Amino acid sequence: MNPPSDVLIEVANLRKIFPVKKKFFSRSTAAVHAVGGVSFSIRHGETLGLVGESGCGKSTTGRCVIRVIEPTGGTVRLEGRDVTALSGKDLRAVRRKMQMVFQDPFSSLNPRQTVDAMLREIFYVHGIAEGAQADRKIGELMEMVGLPAGKAGNFPHEFSGGQRQRIGIARALSVNPSFIVCDEPVSALDVSIQAQIVNLLTELKQKLSLTMLFIAHDLAVVRHISDRIAVMYLGKIVELADARSIYKNPLHPYTQALLSAVPIPDPEIKKQRIELKGDVPSPANIPKGCSFHTRCPHAENICKEIEPELKEIRGHFVSCHLIDRQSMSV
Ligand code: SF4
Repeated sequence: MNPPSDVLIEVANLRKIFPVKKKFFSRSTAAVHAVGGVSFSIRHGETLGLVGESGCGKSTTGRCVIRVIEPTGGTVRLEGRDVTALSGKDLRAVRRKMQMVFQDPFSSLNPRQTVDAMLREIFYVHGIAEGAQADRKIGELMEMVGLPAGKAGNFPHEFSGGQRQRIGIARALSVNPSFIVCDEPVSALDVSIQAQIVNLLTELKQKLSLTMLFIAHDLAVVRHISDRIAVMYLGKIVELADARSIYKNPLHPYTQALLSAVPIPDPEIKKQRIELKGDVPSPANIPKGCSFHTRCPHAENICKEIEPELKEIRGHFVSCHLIDRQSMSV
């Protein structure tokens, strides 16, 4: 996958393996392959949606990219600089450029700190602003995320779930980051609030030219905010294309199944839902061949033996033996 020239972040063959002890007193360990060689790039001002079921490795990927957790292998380059090779002061400086909006806004905020104190502390630590300048910046940030400036003196528990997520977004924006990972930012919120937060992020993306990795388990959530979408299954990207292509012409059977579960707000249109059989296999015991073959309605013998590569077909990346065959016959 050749990254375009205006790439901000480039991830190559990212891997994360978690060792697991089989028995409490045993030395022998199993390995959970949470991320199994993921590559993608994100251009300046672009949003890449990263979608898949729980346990597919999408959140681990996001956390490895900004080094909240250490990757086992692979590289992450921010503006050409290898983030995985940095430590100490250099790493702290780069971390400021890469921020995260967490899934659960309540547990990611300090319950004993007002919003004002939290933002003031960040400004102080990063040498951004103090005193009256900090006051002004706090007011601007509150307004930017749609919260009344007069509420900056409140504690997290005094806000609703949606408002707390707005505070999480304000915190991420407070250091003027180049790149933001939004890790399922709406899945802990009521459905009625989800759209408000997605709309806010979409507005901010346009206003501030934000570059984002937007992680969600639902294709419906990422639809309007994403420029391109990557679909993950058992630690690997199985399809990656621009958002329109994914919704109009999903090529991978897994993407087709995910998309069939997205409701259409039109009672006249009836969609046939593709029911996937069985559960997602354990990442500690990934099936041989195509990891999706245990659930795929089109699986053939080759799928049980040989892992398909992620190949490009007219700007659309997909890993499936059937697509290989179809594209050869076109
Ligand atoms: Fe299904 Fe085979 Fe394609 Fe995997 S390679 S998605 S099992 S048809």
